[in-house]
Amino acid sequence: MPAKDFLDIDAISAIRLKRLQDQGLRRTLSPTERMADGRVIRAGKPMISFSDNDYLGLSVHPRVIAASIEATSLYGVGSGAARLVTGDNPLNERLEARLAALKGMPAARVFGSGYLANAGAIPALVGAGDLIVMDELCHASMHAGARLSGARIQTYAHNNVASAAEHLRQRDATSHALLLTETVFSMDGDLAPLDELAAVAQDTGAWMLTDDAHGLGIVTHKNPAPLQLGTLSKSAGAYGGYIAGPANFIELLTSRARTFVYATGLPPGVLAAALASLDVMEAEPALGEKALANARLFGSLIGETNIESAIVPVRYGEADVAMKASATLARQGFLVTAIRPPTVPAGTARLRFTFSARHSEGDVRRLAGLVLETLAEAGIAK
Ligand SMILES: *Cc1c(COP(=O)(O)O)cnc(C)c1O
Repeated sequence: MPAKDFLDIDAISAIRLKRLQDQGLRRTLSPTERMADGRVIRAGKPMISFSDNDYLGLSVHPRVIAASIEATSLYGVGSGAARLVTGDNPLNERLEARLAALKGMPAARVFGSGYLANAGAIPALVGAGDLIVMDELCHASMHAGARLSGARIQTYAHNNVASAAEHLRQRDATSHALLLTETVFSMDGDLAPLDELAAVAQDTGAWMLTDDAHGLGIVTHKNPAPLQLGTLSKSAGAYGGYIAGPANFIELLTSRARTFVYATGLPPGVLAAALASLDVMEAEPALGEKALANARLFGSLIGETNIESAIVPVRYGEADVAMKASATLARQGFLVTAIRPPTVPAGTARLRFTFSARHSEGDVRRLAGLVLETLAEAGIAK
């Protein structure tokens, strides 16, 4: 029998928390209200958020809110059980048809979240004896899906097509290989070289799956990947995940993706909100253009010219320096969260600024001025 202290969950957790605290890795929550009128209130103080992924402002769009309320009034709040158990609310099928059309794919399947889509779809594609080759900066949910699959995993240096090709050429011809990348990298905002990666996948006989969590409605280049996954929780302003692809594969997920089979379907109000968001997104492409224009304006003001998405990271190096800059901006009414290891590699702690169609040019200019001050204070040349 181990010693009594060793069995005390609370005492062991306290030791682990202390260790995280000492390493600057302890995470804490800040009560914050994102209001439907677009204001963000923290500790009684109104702030402008440059931290959320609601790039088009659709989470607070009147038409999206109305659609959500209407579906909730009609169907109630929860969906009751997994879609295979209670029967499939027709909003699911409508949303899936919409997503398939949007992605130019034969079919799509909606999941409870983007995380669940990756955790379910990847193990339905490959398994033990197969090979996964993935960008080192792929999201935690892609890593989770890859590990759950039991396939052998090789990561390649960020966006290094030659390295991806080298790993894929090592594949065993009698098993499957899967290439994984994000389209827009969530912490850096840069784009994957999708055409080059697709060519490598084609040459080596690998399948390719992309995660477009941060691209939807913003980056509209054609994506050559035959399997395209994404989320409804970011620019669609709602919640949920999806994957679009060949019809039989999508049908296979209905039986084989464990995060689909064994998890409750999305609430009707969320499905209706996502559908309304896709309508607004299609009717108003200017929203995505405005978000991108705001990111580019900020970039030009702080001396970053290569802005390809609505995400602009500014690196401060050590976690405490980024935290201090975040606190300085907060005092001026800007909510920008510091992103620290292990979310990003050690020594690359950063403020991750995300831009929305709802930000005004004046807000962006004032923010850029303050950011330049925090960089100067930290002794970082720009
Ligand atoms: C946010 C994110 C996810 C997870 O999506 P959720 O709907 O929030 O679960 C998956 N992949 C990437 C690249 C993301 O940025």
